[in-house]
Amino acid sequence: MTFSFDQSSVARVPIFHKTSNPVIKSGHIPVQIMGYTFLKIASSAYRKGGPIRNATRNYATTHEADIVVIGSGPGGYVAAIKAAQLGMKTVSVEKDSTLGGTCLNVGCIPSKALLHNTHLYHQAKHDFAHRGIETGPVNFNFSKMMEYKVNAVKALTGGIGMLFKKNKVTLVRGVGTIINPKKVEVKGEKGVETINTKNILIATGSEVTPFPGVTFDEQQIITSTGALSLKSVPKKMLVIGAGVIGLELGSVYQRLGADVTAIEFLGTIGGVGIDGEVAKTLHKILSKQGMKFKLNTKVTSVKKEGGIVKVEVEPSKGGGAKEALDCDVVLISIGRRPYTTDLGLKNVGIALDDRGRVPVNNKFQTTVPGIYAIGDCIHGPMLAHKAEDEGIVCVEGIKGMPVHFNYDAIPSVIYTTPEVGWVGKSEEDLKKEGKAYKVGKFPYLANSRAKTNGEPDGFVKVLSDKATDVILGTHIIGPGGGELINEAVLAQEYGAAAEDVARVCHAHPTCAEALREANLAAYCGKPINF
Ligand SMILES: Cc1cc2nc3c(=O)[nH]c(=O)nc-3n(C[C@H](O)[C@H](O)[C@H](O)COP(=O)(O)OP(=O)(O)OC[C@H]3O[C@@H](n4cnc5c(N)ncnc54)[C@H](O)[C@@H]3O)c2cc1C
Repeated sequence: MTFSFDQSSVARVPIFHKTSNPVIKSGHIPVQIMGYTFLKIASSAYRKGGPIRNATRNYATTHEADIVVIGSGPGGYVAAIKAAQLGMKTVSVEKDSTLGGTCLNVGCIPSKALLHNTHLYHQAKHDFAHRGIETGPVNFNFSKMMEYKVNAVKALTGGIGMLFKKNKVTLVRGVGTIINPKKVEVKGEKGVETINTKNILIATGSEVTPFPGVTFDEQQIITSTGALSLKSVPKKMLVIGAGVIGLELGSVYQRLGADVTAIEFLGTIGGVGIDGEVAKTLHKILSKQGMKFKLNTKVTSVKKEGGIVKVEVEPSKGGGAKEALDCDVVLISIGRRPYTTDLGLKNVGIALDDRGRVPVNNKFQTTVPGIYAIGDCIHGPMLAHKAEDEGIVCVEGIKGMPVHFNYDAIPSVIYTTPEVGWVGKSEEDLKKEGKAYKVGKFPYLANSRAKTNGEPDGFVKVLSDKATDVILGTHIIGPGGGELINEAVLAQEYGAAAEDVARVCHAHPTCAEALREANLAAYCGKPINF
């Protein structure tokens, strides 16, 4: 757009839409040009400095909203849609060029695309022949696999834009900063846009936790983001951290032929909350598949030397000999931390807790009235579905509806083969709490569908209250564990007893029958088929 007037005396354009109300500050004179209102700066001081140069290129817009949601990850975009559905004038603010946050762009979705396709490749190469399926030589095309992943991500991130349009959510692109509890400024390509609002919802998510003394080049020393976009399959890969992300991405490259070793500080794999017995079984199964593990091991340095990466380790308890390991690529997956950079929390006096999280109460209210927070940037597990559900109940609460969130009924899944899924308490949790409990276990080896499909590894374990039979936790390692766990979540959310699930008719032959049998075992001590 070009203008034929003296731009040096015209400040940022406050409105492009004839319907919006310009905020006239003292020292500004409104000028009508070509149907737009411009603010002419009366003060000569502005004519001398830099601000005028920027001002002539950046056109500011002011929005009026009931709620501004900062961040369009699974927490933020779902909250924005729900808020709009509940009748709130909703603005979503996103700094990245695509919507969907960590989950859709560099998290859940791309990792599952790679996990699914590498699983199919591995099956075709190593499993088809004995099932009577003849294929000839099976190869993979890595760049095509990556292209498939990119397209899966594109389809889903683009879908959010359409959902925003459908639900009348206004998207403002740029970095959102809270100026005061009723105002958010967004710095983006269009300049600075201002949103006057009744409520603010922080959904700014998380970022990779840095490793002290290590610079990521995302080629050889990589985060999970780099692991989702490598150009080729490394010959030798070290994975620091055998939690969910390390095991999933380690599996991807191990299936494609990389020699993968996972180094873990703790004595078990699978991360926080996994049941000890399940962790041991997963360790055994993944080891059989070819993944190597170094448990109780601490990494002391990571250095690039002559084209390879040298990783020094020692026993995590100290006292043992140091060891030097070489690899082509090291994936550092030691966790994520809340992200609140440039958010302006200091402007409103919100102090982060000792782990960098935004403190909220059980209605997701921060210490400042009208400002809320959800998802990875607050307490609780860093999971997409947890962020989504918090977003929904948070905006319902803003509309005066009840806010109920049961942190005991959030499922966790590790999308390895076999899948691991759990909800509620582990045996270790219950022992620590001194709670009397019953265990009902059923192996997939005795489940007709799993056995027929040739997927007999794993089991379902149900933990129920010894006195009342109420289910306290369910732990699955086996085929479709990531899907089946949802039935256990439903039961737990409804406060079911093991007997309740055991008496529900389940389709035959399905792997879900293993869940029923484990509940039967917890309820009366005896399953039928084992
Ligand atoms: C490799 C990997 C695999 C994963 N797999 C799973 C899985 O299988 N299942 C699962 O449940 N979880 C998984 N996760 C975790 C999941 O991605 C996160 O828990 C989830 O994305 C958190 O959602 P959120 O909305 O809180 O934040 P995010 O998804 O992190 O989104 C935050 C958004 O806010 C934006 N933002 C931040 N600050 C500003 C600002 N000031 N202005 C404007 N925009 C801003 C960011 O650009 C981002 O788009 C995985 C994570 C990784 C890294």
